[in-house]
Amino acid sequence: MTLWILGDQLNHAAVEQLAPRRVLLVEAYELGRTPPMHPQKLVLFFSAMRHFAEELRAGGREVIYLQAETLAEALEQFFQAYPGETLAQMQPADFGFAERAKALVEGRGGLYRLLPNRLWLLQPEEFDRWAGSRQTYRLEYFYRFMRQRTGYLMQKGQPVGGAWNYDAENRKAPPPGYRPPAPLRFAPDALTQGAIETVKARFQGHFGALEGFEWPVTRQQALEALEDFVQKRLAAFGPYQDALVEQSWSLHHSLLSPALNLGLLHPAEVVERALAEYEKGGVPLASIEGFVRQVMGWREYIYHVYRREMPGLLRANQLAAQAPLPPLFWGAPTRMRCLSTVITRVRARGYAHHIERLMVLANFALLYGVEPQALNAWFVAAFVDSADWVMVPNVLGMGVFASPILSSKPYAASGKYIARMGNHCQHCAFKVSETLGEQACPFNSLYWDFMARHRALLEGNPRLAVLYRSWDRRQPQEQRAIRHRAESLRQGIAQGEV
Ligand SMILES: Cc1cc2nc3c(=O)[nH]c(=O)nc-3n(C[C@H](O)[C@H](O)[C@H](O)COP(=O)(O)OP(=O)(O)OC[C@H]3O[C@@H](n4cnc5c(N)ncnc54)[C@H](O)[C@@H]3O)c2cc1C
Ligand code: SF4
Repeated sequence: MTLWILGDQLNHAAVEQLAPRRVLLVEAYELGRTPPMHPQKLVLFFSAMRHFAEELRAGGREVIYLQAETLAEALEQFFQAYPGETLAQMQPADFGFAERAKALVEGRGGLYRLLPNRLWLLQPEEFDRWAGSRQTYRLEYFYRFMRQRTGYLMQKGQPVGGAWNYDAENRKAPPPGYRPPAPLRFAPDALTQGAIETVKARFQGHFGALEGFEWPVTRQQALEALEDFVQKRLAAFGPYQDALVEQSWSLHHSLLSPALNLGLLHPAEVVERALAEYEKGGVPLASIEGFVRQVMGWREYIYHVYRREMPGLLRANQLAAQAPLPPLFWGAPTRMRCLSTVITRVRARGYAHHIERLMVLANFALLYGVEPQALNAWFVAAFVDSADWVMVPNVLGMGVFASPILSSKPYAASGKYIARMGNHCQHCAFKVSETLGEQACPFNSLYWDFMARHRALLEGNPRLAVLYRSWDRRQPQEQRAIRHRAESLRQGIAQGEV
């Protein structure tokens, strides 16, 4: 049996456990073209796969490493050398890949065998047992189930500290001029340089910078990045988790999503290492709880919801949003400081932290009315940690409320939220305190217009009742002016003039 390892399954422990006769890795360039991926994501995958193959070889394993334009060409080569071989594969995370792989293998006379994927904390049947016949999912219930199941941050069946979450303590903007510890970054070695050359030679015109690649590409580097995070940034992870600041792209975030999504780190070891640091003292409960919730709660929940809800979730569009993606997403200049700062960051590293993704990028697309599938394609193309399984629920479910299965109301916010969480507005050409007039923050009128447009769907939600009461207190003339301003902004944004 040959174990065919995908680029997001680069886990030594899994290979040891499965003990295959040989391992197959395939660099298929077509996978980086549709959608056209961020150059640093391509480098990340090629470099991490090449390092992984070298490490397996150094450990005495037989490795076949194929480079081809298409998967079909690579498998053709493989089966010429090993006719009739069984190719086993851990369950691919992305929808439809296993069926495609099976057809490609069987079409060339091989046998295809699916194995459980142990890179998740929960196996599908365990999540399905928890979910039962639910048609909507709420993270909070799943997260409590995971806490009880693992016993992490639990004492005698109750959450440590008496509460399941400490969000109220965690929504802080840092003091003016605050500089968090700089994260550990990794200069490209010879194998990474080789991957950079491959990307230069084979991929042109993709959104994002190729230069400046510094992501961890080996297990050793991923472990160092984990250590750096737990020792230097975890303690203040909680309070500044939602902050939106000009002076730091990384703040106290772990930056571990690329390593986790490649399989270089297992979510269990990430959670356990963070808990060990908490046990030593010095990490507040609000920070460790916030971090554990991201990895053990959100990450698993997102994957399993995706697994259960595809392909319908990808087609969802309950708000009937139809607008094409405005040019500012591809780097066209904009005077909206929050957006230009975050998009510049995405272009530079393929990374923005969670609140930048949710409350700046997706929030703007939601208010503006971007078609959810177009936004999803942009996110997949623009981020180093992107994968179908994680983008679709985050973008369509959380980001633009295309489906009700993940939340009961949209994550929509005016400029006030962005101003409260940081300092972009202090440097912006627009005035966040204004809704009307040429200088008024575009998020404000777009927000009210969005709420007015979708009133029929949203006003039944008790959490939005205050908002609609506040809208109704405005004079009809003012309401018309706000909606008119939103419409003219929409036209200006589409032309790249805002
Ligand atoms: C619109 C949108 C798009 C996103 N796209 C991606 C994506 O392509 N790839 C991706 O890995 N994450 C994605 N996320 C989730 C989250 O924003 C990133 O995982 C996180 O910002 C990665 O940075 P970090 O490692 O510094 O995370 P931290 O803030 O340090 O969080 C720790 C870890 O928790 C996990 N996590 C936290 N929130 C989520 C979540 N909502 N879904 C899944 N995992 C989560 C990640 O593994 C992350 O590394 C998206 C979120 C939104 C709102
Ligand atoms: S004023 Fe509005 S557009 Fe400018 S940074 Fe603040 S929220 Fe963004």
